[in-house]
Amino acid sequence: MNETIRHEVRKKCADLDIPLVGFAPAGRWDAPLFEPWIPEAFRPRSVFPETNTVIVIGLPVSLPVLESAPSIWYRELYRTVNALLDQAGYRIASALSAGGYPSVWIPRDGYGSISVLMEKPVAFFSHRHAAFLAGLGNFGVNNTLLTPEFGPRVRFASILTAAEIEPDPVLEKPLCIRCQRCVEACPVHALGGEDYPEGLTDKKTCATRSEALSKQFMAPCGICIKVCPVGEDRIRFLREDPEMYDERSTRFGQYHRAWKHIRSYGGG
Ligand code: SF4
Ligand code: SF4
Repeated sequence: MNETIRHEVRKKCADLDIPLVGFAPAGRWDAPLFEPWIPEAFRPRSVFPETNTVIVIGLPVSLPVLESAPSIWYRELYRTVNALLDQAGYRIASALSAGGYPSVWIPRDGYGSISVLMEKPVAFFSHRHAAFLAGLGNFGVNNTLLTPEFGPRVRFASILTAAEIEPDPVLEKPLCIRCQRCVEACPVHALGGEDYPEGLTDKKTCATRSEALSKQFMAPCGICIKVCPVGEDRIRFLREDPEMYDERSTRFGQYHRAWKHIRSYGGG
């Protein structure tokens, strides 16, 4: 195992302002931890046979911007975070390859468009599962990966590398507190309320909503991740009370007026 490479990758991530980075050996994909598990064709060595380690990087979406979702503001944040992640993944893979370790980056999205997603609701590689196996978090009722730092408000990309790097342990303690806020907040009832993977998102229903929002320049939806109480970012942004998203709450009227204003412009 190469401690120097681990240190150098972490330093490069710090230079790129990437707060989350985890390392998983490719062999972890071959030892199922729950069912249904990742099919063989979707595992790192099937995609890039030289893979010994998967490096997963994560960038947060800022909670106060996400709170306006669905909105043009969140849409632009989402696109910006995606672009930064892709550039960082590309740069890390290029640096490793130049250093003698063949490496490739996998972009944070693998759908092409929402209409493609409607037909085929999976990508050729799952970053959520990679992030789980790299110890960055574990799954919530909302089917996203919850992290201690940002709850589900994180976007991920992965780098498949031939380098053998000291791995991180999988995070065993569940972060989801099963509060069901995500289930109750989903406007199209696409979440069943069971723990992952018993309760899988109704992807067609969720994608249909995304498609409608996309036509209004207000996708993605983001509601089931903004209401989740998990994540230290809630403390940082002074948003520890998830009751603030209840439209009937008079205590948070100032916030509701701001979100209404933002949603009224730039999309819709
Ligand atoms: S993204 Fe929106 S539509 Fe999809 S599950 Fe979450 S709240 Fe429901
Ligand atoms: S909102 Fe509650 S139930 Fe849903 S993922 Fe977060 S902690 Fe789990």
